[in-house]
Amino acid sequence: MSTPIIVGNWKMNGLSADSADRVKQITADLAAQPVSGVEIVVCPPFTQLALVATALKGSPVALGAQDCHKDAKGAHTGDIAACMLKDVGTTHVILGHSERRRDHGEVDETVREKTVSAIAAGLTPIVCIGETEDQRQEGQTEDTLGWQIKGSLPDGFDGIVAYEPVWAIGTGLAATSEDIQSTVAFIRAELVRQFGDAGKSLRILYGGSVDATNAASILAIPDVAGALVGGASLKPDAFLSIVRAVP
Ligand code: PGA
Repeated sequence: MSTPIIVGNWKMNGLSADSADRVKQITADLAAQPVSGVEIVVCPPFTQLALVATALKGSPVALGAQDCHKDAKGAHTGDIAACMLKDVGTTHVILGHSERRRDHGEVDETVREKTVSAIAAGLTPIVCIGETEDQRQEGQTEDTLGWQIKGSLPDGFDGIVAYEPVWAIGTGLAATSEDIQSTVAFIRAELVRQFGDAGKSLRILYGGSVDATNAASILAIPDVAGALVGGASLKPDAFLSIVRAVP
């Protein structure tokens, strides 16, 4: 059994003071009431990575970013390379989030190239896949996920897969436990098909409206190795409840 992991995706929220305050609350709480058997990662906006890295020193919480470029350097105005993330103390990076796919036209190929670059830089990629509401209505969930897995995960993939149904993100409507369980089983089978034995041990997370009230039941689903948490990760109490809901 691999270690469960709870990842907070802060998205484009808050200024430095907000992030500093949030980290202070999270680390103080974990110092007072330590948890074991769970990895914890927070992913602030780029401009706050260095500040949060400093604030997390000596705590059990790791630092993640929300994206990286596929190249290690060069003429890419406004972009950030994986090695630059590593340089400020980042250990994880979320890639292929549906909001990046939607807002920045990222396709599976883009995500695959970024994943290669993240692994080369020594980061753990958290690669997001998930069907839209339309795809779900049209019965295309498995086809969609199958293509995303094939297209987004490079040979020798060493990272984490986050199953985030797009319709469940930020809506307050998490997928049902039955749906998560059957979809995660499908994802596992695809990972094994693509990577053989290595596919058996890759961690699969669920994301999409995970909060303090539903975390325990979601995290109890067989083969769900943790959660990628958006909205609730901005509230230290809610985020810590989710961390403590890990079975
Ligand atoms: P949410 O976001 O928890 O606010 O639904 C999850 C995500 O986008 O990673």
